[in-house]
Amino acid sequence: MSDKRCLALIAHDMKKDDMVEFATNHRAELSGFRLVATGTTGGRILDACPDLDITPLKSGPLGGDQQIGAMIANGQVQMLLFFTDPLTALPHDVDVKALTRLATVYDIPMALNRATAELLIRVF
Ligand code: PGA
Repeated sequence: MSDKRCLALIAHDMKKDDMVEFATNHRAELSGFRLVATGTTGGRILDACPDLDITPLKSGPLGGDQQIGAMIANGQVQMLLFFTDPLTALPHDVDVKALTRLATVYDIPMALNRATAELLIRVF
Protein backbone atom coordinates (compact mmCIF):
# COMPACT_ATOMS: atom_id res chain seq x y z
CA MET A 1 0.00 0.00 0.00
CA SER A 2 1.14 3.53 -0.81
CA ASP A 3 2.72 5.49 2.03
CA LYS A 4 1.22 8.73 0.71
CA ARG A 5 -1.06 10.59 3.08
CA CYS A 6 -4.76 10.31 2.37
CA LEU A 7 -6.98 13.30 1.68
CA ALA A 8 -10.79 13.08 1.59
CA LEU A 9 -12.80 15.28 -0.79
CA ILE A 10 -16.53 15.98 -0.60
CA ALA A 11 -18.66 18.68 -2.18
CA HIS A 12 -22.36 19.22 -1.83
CA ASP A 13 -24.23 19.60 -5.12
CA MET A 14 -24.11 23.40 -5.34
CA LYS A 15 -20.38 23.29 -4.58
CA LYS A 16 -19.33 20.57 -7.00
CA ASP A 17 -18.29 22.96 -9.76
CA ASP A 18 -16.11 24.76 -7.22
CA MET A 19 -14.54 21.47 -6.15
CA VAL A 20 -13.81 20.44 -9.74
CA GLU A 21 -12.18 23.81 -10.38
CA PHE A 22 -10.20 23.53 -7.12
CA ALA A 23 -8.99 20.02 -8.03
CA THR A 24 -8.06 21.10 -11.54
CA ASN A 25 -6.13 24.12 -10.27
CA HIS A 26 -4.35 22.02 -7.64
CA ARG A 27 -3.88 18.73 -9.47
CA ALA A 28 -0.10 18.91 -8.92
CA GLU A 29 -0.51 19.19 -5.13
CA LEU A 30 -3.33 16.61 -5.07
CA SER A 31 -1.22 14.11 -6.98
CA GLY A 32 0.96 13.88 -3.87
CA PHE A 33 -1.91 12.30 -1.92
CA ARG A 34 -4.04 9.21 -2.05
CA LEU A 35 -7.52 10.61 -2.50
CA VAL A 36 -10.89 9.31 -1.40
CA ALA A 37 -14.15 11.04 -2.24
CA THR A 38 -17.87 10.55 -1.97
CA GLY A 39 -19.30 8.97 -5.11
CA THR A 40 -20.55 11.86 -7.19
CA THR A 41 -17.81 14.24 -6.11
CA GLY A 42 -15.15 11.66 -6.94
CA GLY A 43 -16.68 10.94 -10.33
CA ARG A 44 -16.81 14.63 -11.23
CA ILE A 45 -13.17 15.15 -10.23
CA LEU A 46 -12.05 12.05 -12.13
CA ASP A 47 -13.82 13.27 -15.28
CA ALA A 48 -11.82 16.50 -15.07
CA CYS A 49 -8.54 15.02 -13.76
CA PRO A 50 -8.33 11.36 -14.81
CA ASP A 51 -4.69 11.17 -13.78
CA LEU A 52 -5.49 11.63 -10.05
CA ASP A 53 -5.46 8.60 -7.73
CA ILE A 54 -9.03 8.82 -6.38
CA THR A 55 -10.99 6.04 -4.75
CA PRO A 56 -14.70 6.90 -5.01
CA LEU A 57 -16.79 5.72 -2.06
CA LYS A 58 -20.57 5.65 -1.74
CA SER A 59 -22.52 8.80 -2.49
CA GLY A 60 -22.87 11.03 0.57
CA PRO A 61 -26.59 10.48 1.17
CA LEU A 62 -26.05 6.71 0.82
CA GLY A 63 -23.32 6.46 3.44
CA GLY A 64 -20.24 8.02 1.84
CA ASP A 65 -19.85 10.61 4.60
CA GLN A 66 -20.01 7.82 7.17
CA GLN A 67 -17.40 5.78 5.29
CA ILE A 68 -15.03 8.75 5.41
CA GLY A 69 -15.82 9.25 9.11
CA ALA A 70 -14.89 5.63 9.80
CA MET A 71 -11.64 6.06 7.86
CA ILE A 72 -10.80 9.11 9.99
CA ALA A 73 -11.51 7.14 13.17
CA ASN A 74 -9.23 4.36 11.90
CA GLY A 75 -6.39 6.79 11.15
CA GLN A 76 -6.70 6.26 7.39
CA VAL A 77 -7.52 9.85 6.39
CA GLN A 78 -5.22 12.73 7.32
CA MET A 79 -7.12 15.73 5.92
CA LEU A 80 -10.69 16.57 4.90
CA LEU A 81 -11.71 19.11 2.26
CA PHE A 82 -15.48 19.36 2.46
CA PHE A 83 -17.21 22.08 0.44
CA THR A 84 -20.50 22.32 2.29
CA ASP A 85 -23.66 24.10 1.14
CA PRO A 86 -25.20 25.96 4.08
CA LEU A 87 -28.14 27.20 1.97
CA THR A 88 -29.74 23.86 1.11
CA ALA A 89 -31.51 21.39 3.39
CA LEU A 90 -29.92 17.94 3.12
CA PRO A 91 -31.48 14.54 3.88
CA HIS A 92 -28.19 13.35 5.37
CA ASP A 93 -27.55 16.36 7.57
CA VAL A 94 -26.88 14.12 10.56
CA ASP A 95 -24.13 12.34 8.60
CA VAL A 96 -22.52 15.69 7.77
CA LYS A 97 -22.55 16.60 11.44
CA ALA A 98 -21.13 13.21 12.44
CA LEU A 99 -18.32 13.53 9.91
CA THR A 100 -17.28 17.02 10.94
CA ARG A 101 -17.48 15.91 14.57
CA LEU A 102 -15.09 13.01 13.96
CA ALA A 103 -12.66 15.22 12.05
CA THR A 104 -12.66 17.46 15.14
CA VAL A 105 -12.38 14.56 17.61
CA TYR A 106 -9.37 13.15 15.72
CA ASP A 107 -7.97 16.63 15.16
CA ILE A 108 -7.29 16.38 11.46
CA PRO A 109 -7.10 19.51 9.28
CA MET A 110 -10.60 20.16 7.87
CA ALA A 111 -11.71 22.82 5.40
CA LEU A 112 -15.44 23.43 5.13
CA ASN A 113 -15.16 26.00 2.35
CA ARG A 114 -12.96 26.73 -0.61
CA ALA A 115 -11.14 29.68 0.95
CA THR A 116 -9.86 27.46 3.77
CA ALA A 117 -9.03 24.63 1.37
CA GLU A 118 -6.92 27.06 -0.68
CA LEU A 119 -4.89 27.80 2.46
CA LEU A 120 -4.59 24.19 3.66
CA ILE A 121 -3.48 22.75 0.34
CA ARG A 122 -0.50 25.10 0.40
CA VAL A 123 0.76 24.07 3.82
CA PHE A 124 -0.23 20.44 4.33
P1 PGA B 1 -21.75 13.01 -3.39
O1 PGA B 1 -21.95 13.16 -1.86
O2 PGA B 1 -20.36 13.40 -3.73
O3 PGA B 1 -22.00 11.56 -3.71
O4 PGA B 1 -22.78 13.91 -4.04
C1 PGA B 1 -21.67 14.40 -1.25
C2 PGA B 1 -22.66 14.68 -0.18
O5 PGA B 1 -23.73 15.18 -0.49
O6 PGA B 1 -22.39 14.42 1.00
